[in-house]
Amino acid sequence: MHIGRFAPSPTGPLHAGSLVAALASWLDARAHGGRWLVRIEDVDTPRCVPGADQFILSQLAACGLMPDEAPVWQSQRTTHYRAALDRLVASGHAYPCACSRKDIEAAQAARGTLRQRGAELPYPGTCRPEHGGLNGRAPRAWRRHTGKFSFNDAPTHSPSAESATNSIANVTSLHWHDRRLGTQHQHVEQAVGDFVLLRADGLWAYQLAVVVDDALQGITHVVRGEDLADNTPRQILLQRALAVPTPRYLHTPLVLAKDGQKLSKQNGAQALDVSQPLVALTHAAQTLGLSAPPAGTVGLALAAWRDEWARRWAAGSG
Ligand code: GLU
Repeated sequence: MHIGRFAPSPTGPLHAGSLVAALASWLDARAHGGRWLVRIEDVDTPRCVPGADQFILSQLAACGLMPDEAPVWQSQRTTHYRAALDRLVASGHAYPCACSRKDIEAAQAARGTLRQRGAELPYPGTCRPEHGGLNGRAPRAWRRHTGKFSFNDAPTHSPSAESATNSIANVTSLHWHDRRLGTQHQHVEQAVGDFVLLRADGLWAYQLAVVVDDALQGITHVVRGEDLADNTPRQILLQRALAVPTPRYLHTPLVLAKDGQKLSKQNGAQALDVSQPLVALTHAAQTLGLSAPPAGTVGLALAAWRDEWARRWAAGSG
């Protein structure tokens, strides 16, 4: 059974870019006779805007994108994240970290690695158990040990979709397949380092919550914006450590603002206008390479057009 999902963060209303991911995941589920779920990703509470969750659901409903089950809210699922972290700690895939941002910057400077403007440097591994652990300091955050790479044959929804190369020089290099972008590659330990699972402020990190929920909800196909593509290797590392299936991934094209930047809530993207849902959906469909309805049909045949796009999606996607 194909199970897809759309997982918005309620940090503001849907904008033209987020509708592309919503429509693509909906079409993908419809095209494959599957189910489509909606999950409100509200773990990063300081960034959440009160009421944005209901507003997003109403925008989806206005576009006729109705989930096949009642939506879930990540803020109500923290016991699952706790249980997963406990398992990762017990299996040696996660460890507590006492470092503040200042500590991390000092350790990076001592190694001669200076931060590029805007770029995060990989965590230097100060609190890794093999480096002495907490050294008597109080734990602040919990991190995934990216040097501990599990090669056990975790079940997968995509038998040939990703693989890991296991050489001594390249121990956490991960290859994975994106249905649109093709083969992708990331050396997680070098590129992002030991990433956070439970933050110093007590909030669950996106990487852990998304992996736990995709697994518990039985998601077989993840369709989301291309800006999230480089998170996928971290999520596959967590899936392997938790021995849960890896879904198939498809990352959709981004809608760019006039200045060429990715359209996002952070750069003030306008809320999606759903007063004419077929107009909004047509723009999203065009971004996905699906042609527009002929002139004169606008506002008349929303359901018919969605079904037609689903047929075209089925014809064009594997
Ligand atoms: N909540 C994430 C966002 O709104 C999407 C996560 C995902 O689809 O994996 O950017």
